[in-house]
Amino acid sequence: MAVALLLAAGLGERLGLGEPKALAELAGRPLWRWSADVLLALPEIEQVVLATPAGAEGESLAASVPAGVIAVPGGAVRSESVLLALRGGAKGGVDPDSDPDSLVLVHDAARPLLSAELVRETLVGAARNGVDAAIAATPVTDTIKQADGDGRVARTLDRSGLWAVQTPQVFRRRALERALDVEAEVLAQATDDAWLIECLGGCVVVVPAPRENLKVTTPVDLELAELLLARRAGRALGRS
Ligand code: C5P
Repeated sequence: MAVALLLAAGLGERLGLGEPKALAELAGRPLWRWSADVLLALPEIEQVVLATPAGAEGESLAASVPAGVIAVPGGAVRSESVLLALRGGAKGGVDPDSDPDSLVLVHDAARPLLSAELVRETLVGAARNGVDAAIAATPVTDTIKQADGDGRVARTLDRSGLWAVQTPQVFRRRALERALDVEAEVLAQATDDAWLIECLGGCVVVVPAPRENLKVTTPVDLELAELLLARRAGRALGRS
């Protein structure tokens, strides 16, 4: 059994909608609801803690969450939202007296194409002996170059062995708590929580994930996610 922290705070300004990204409408529902429903349907997930955006929209979202979801206000940066969701505020969150080796799953609400299969595979990866965190990731297929501020290429990276990291990321509770116990400036640098575990020398493993598990960042991602969700619904109805 695991607790899931679903990150829906922040503004997501690159989407340009003038409302928090997690509340953007996607195929008739708010973005955050797609992955929330996948997590809620899984018997392996005992509770979902949703980190909500600041402001009136976030407050009305918190007031309307379905049964099985605890809403807590998120933070100014992503990893602060993880920390606040982990503590759960006055409403609960992860029981500090629970087994320190119990599993905590972190997922970006901005990835609405989460599948039950990927959640299960990531949970299994993190439950292995000696593993502190298992993270969904996909092998890099583009050639990656490093360039300076003027666009001058400094070098080309060897892409074999490079992975583009996604969520879900699953952690041992104790390892995640230790990793998040750092200065606010360090939290602000973390684009994912597994990096904080790596900084402490912890063992992080990748779990191969489908490219379909994309993150909605720009308007074209929203269009793509809508198409992929329509394809998924068609498959569920037996259409190819
Ligand atoms: O901004 P970005 O796309 O990297 O955000 C990734 C995820 O982190 C999103 O699901 C977003 O809602 C969440 N987030 C958060 N708190 C923040 C910033 C982002 O929960 N302060």
